[in-house]
Amino acid sequence: MAKADIYGRDWARFPDLKDGSLVVADPGFDCIPAGTVCEVFDGPDGLYTPCRCGRHYLEGQADHRDETDAVVGFYPAPAGVPAGVRIGA
Ligand SMILES: [Zn+2]
Repeated sequence: MAKADIYGRDWARFPDLKDGSLVVADPGFDCIPAGTVCEVFDGPDGLYTPCRCGRHYLEGQADHRDETDAVVGFYPAPAGVPAGVRIGA
């Protein structure tokens, strides 16, 4: 795994995320439509975003192997686009 997807698009990084941050889901989720802008919340078990399963914890997307702090599967969201909008991924 790496800090970017196979097309070179950088993943979001844990140090950049906090309660209220926005990220964009890639097409790899069964529980989040591809390209959806997702709001990040700080819950009792860490950062998560709401999904069809309930809470999708970002720690489950962590790239522990090369310590890039990448949140694999989520991209940084572009400025000015609200949560819930699909922008493509
Ligand atoms: Zn989920």
